[in-house]
Amino acid sequence: MSRRCFVTGNWKMNKTVAEATALVRELRGLVSMVRDRVEVAVAPPFTALYPVAKALEDSNIALAAQTCHAEPSGAFTGEVSAPMLKEVGCSWVILGHSERRQFFGETDATVNRKIAATVKAGLLPIICVGETLQEREANKTLEVVTTQVKGALAGFAANPAFVIAYEPVWAIGTGKTATSRQAQEVHAHIRQVVGGLWGQDTAAQVRIQYGGSVKGDNAAELLGQPDIDGALVGGASLKAADFAAIIKARA
Ligand code: PEP
Repeated sequence: MSRRCFVTGNWKMNKTVAEATALVRELRGLVSMVRDRVEVAVAPPFTALYPVAKALEDSNIALAAQTCHAEPSGAFTGEVSAPMLKEVGCSWVILGHSERRQFFGETDATVNRKIAATVKAGLLPIICVGETLQEREANKTLEVVTTQVKGALAGFAANPAFVIAYEPVWAIGTGKTATSRQAQEVHAHIRQVVGGLWGQDTAAQVRIQYGGSVKGDNAAELLGQPDIDGALVGGASLKAADFAAIIKARA
């Protein structure tokens, strides 16, 4: 089963509109030749989504949001809904990022509701899971990601278009990357968990990205693992050349 490599840049709370549009204009030129081999998406902050969508017109780069609310509209000051994200040109929504879990109280149950909202709006989720350093040191990694995957996917029919991102919390923004062996072990386990829920055929099609200090010089090794189907990239997605180097590592 061949799974097309999928690389997403998570810009977090970075880039003004002017900076964001300049970045994607540069990126377009750098990655136009990987069109068929690698799927690429960028996730700017909410304020830059629409102008970035315009700057990406007729390109092979898709637009993702970094989160959404579980309701389509209502009295939720400061929030943005999935239909609003669809309207401005998003195709994907990153959900359950460890920073959302850590700083904004997101749980597997809220992630599950947000996935439902995302799908209802015609968008697809990139569902983040991963263990903390403490959990890894206590040998709980597989248990933690199993709970997160099962909690996120509870109640959904098999959907091979969903994307899961394995992001060990201790590797995010720290410069510490999981070894390709550590990452492959968890990816293979996640695929097994998905297989238990949705059957082996679907599990073989679901793409699982790795995230955590992916850079141009470690991407090829990570992306070369049999169950690693792409990357979710934070820091290194903020410069076009750095992000393009990761994309080209697989192309
Ligand atoms: C992330 O935030 O999803 C991430 C992987 O960040 P970084 O690449 O900076 O570790």
